Amino acid sequence: MSTDKTEGSSESLNFLEEIIEADLREGKVTSVLTRFPPEPNGYLHIGHAKSIALNFGLAQKFGGKTNLRYDDTNPTKEEQEYVDSILADIRWLGFEPAKVLYASDYFDQMYDWAKELISRGLAYVDFSTAEEIAALKGTPTEPGKDSPYRNTSPEENLALIERMKVGEFPDGHCVLRAKVDMASPNMHLRDPIMYRIKHDHHHRTGDKWCIYPMYDWAHGQSDSIEGITHSICTLEFAPHRPLYEWFIEQLDIFPSRQFEFARFNLNYTIMSKRKLLQLVQEKHVRGWDDPRMPTISGLRRRGYTPEAIRDFARRIGVAKRENLIEISLLEFCIREDLNKVSLRRFAVLRPLKVVVTNYPEGQEEWLETENNPEAPETGTRKVAFCRELYIEQDDFMENPPPKYFRLSPGGMVRLKSAFIIRCDEVIKDAQGNLVEIHCSYVPESRSGQDTSGLKVKGVVHWLSARHAHPAEVRLYDRLFQLEDPGAEDDFKNSINPNSLEIIENAMVEPALVEANDGDRFQFTRLGYFCADPDGTAEKPVFNRTVTLKETWVKK
Ligand code: ATP
Ligand code: MG
Repeated sequence: MSTDKTEGSSESLNFLEEIIEADLREGKVTSVLTRFPPEPNGYLHIGHAKSIALNFGLAQKFGGKTNLRYDDTNPTKEEQEYVDSILADIRWLGFEPAKVLYASDYFDQMYDWAKELISRGLAYVDFSTAEEIAALKGTPTEPGKDSPYRNTSPEENLALIERMKVGEFPDGHCVLRAKVDMASPNMHLRDPIMYRIKHDHHHRTGDKWCIYPMYDWAHGQSDSIEGITHSICTLEFAPHRPLYEWFIEQLDIFPSRQFEFARFNLNYTIMSKRKLLQLVQEKHVRGWDDPRMPTISGLRRRGYTPEAIRDFARRIGVAKRENLIEISLLEFCIREDLNKVSLRRFAVLRPLKVVVTNYPEGQEEWLETENNPEAPETGTRKVAFCRELYIEQDDFMENPPPKYFRLSPGGMVRLKSAFIIRCDEVIKDAQGNLVEIHCSYVPESRSGQDTSGLKVKGVVHWLSARHAHPAEVRLYDRLFQLEDPGAEDDFKNSINPNSLEIIENAMVEPALVEANDGDRFQFTRLGYFCADPDGTAEKPVFNRTVTLKETWVKK
């Protein structure tokens, strides 16, 4: 498990906290304002959760604030559905943005600033094709060459950007480039593109614009407009930083500063929105919120708690180098939390009928069992015991190996919170299939008041057949078979064909029928489960969030 030793302890700070602490101490900034800047082109995933927890956490630590700013500069891929889901997910994680803002709100200001740069000879319209621009760009070891349009006069360029803006040119006909340095060793400074033409409807600005700013032109300017003090992004933007600073210096606007940390990957899954979208569109999963998805909405539907996700984000720390985090760390975090908070319930996934032959037909009694031994204040509930019961098929073996402590012919087992039973007879059909087992119970062995003197090693969960309610249970496995599926040519080649197992005829105790969507439980001995919105009163549906212990082994 990879954890950052510096985080979580009160005396030492991570490197971003150190920077902010020093900035405040030295008076470089007087208050802290961070932002979370997602592009609304998909649902948020666990990688974004890290960025959210980091940005909001840093601000909280130093008494500052955090904006949510949608980086909505690419009309083709962005949708209102994504905008809505992003805010809902941030709130569910437990954070409230100081302001909800959009880069598209600043399109007018960006355009004015672009004209300012043009009039000072710092930007020009280039009619070269994309190939020509690329060819003149040079290589990291070889300087680039000037475009033939590089020395057009500011007056001409001002007229041209206006013509671009009003829609005189088709898509891709020309671009606006900043005039920085074609010989810079940093390729991002070789006259980067500021605007491109895209005749496309924008989810907020409609058809007002047909030129859209590039990331480098929009991002720092938006930060500056909002007065962001610490603009935290992932490592791949480090080479963009000189350009981020160049634009801000040339315009002499609020000096936002950029800092980078390493993005993390999670094994056995992918975290690119583009690839996640493919899984959804090609129906490899049931939707963005499929419980197998690494999206926040998928994790929520799976039964994850915001607390567990925040704990995970804290444990992985703030790294300076990209790393692959084990999904078992995420599972560890959810077990830790659910063990403390989830109510215990009985469910039998694959029922085997048990007839208690010495218990009178028609009689029943209600036995007390704990709701959560980790939280005694949750009290107890009563479960019905009667003549016909269900136990798990797995908890019975006709020919058991040595040291098998569950039920077998002639053997005894304790029914949790109830009695000891002995298996007297195995009933089979004409084909030799197991139909049911006949047992006798020991009346003096009642849990808590056991005077039987019997010692049994196995304890199994069970249900009263008459009171049990049918339910569907969904068990999940890793979505991918490879540890790093994103590294493959086609990540879809390693999709795990058995990532979902549906058990249609499980049985649950009556208390579970009233479960509301999202309610979380521990099914005794089976794992942590959560009620799924697909469920109905007749047939509730439960997702297994995680098993009780780490059981997964590399294949
Ligand atoms: P993706 O490639 O999955 O689409 P992205 O970086 O393009 O991710 P954005 O919407 O642009 O997605 O990201 C919003 C913020 O979340 C950015 O600051 C980005 O750096 C951060 N972020 C995205 N993925 C991760 C990750 N795996 N680890 C840490 N931060 C991440
Ligand atoms: Mg992005």
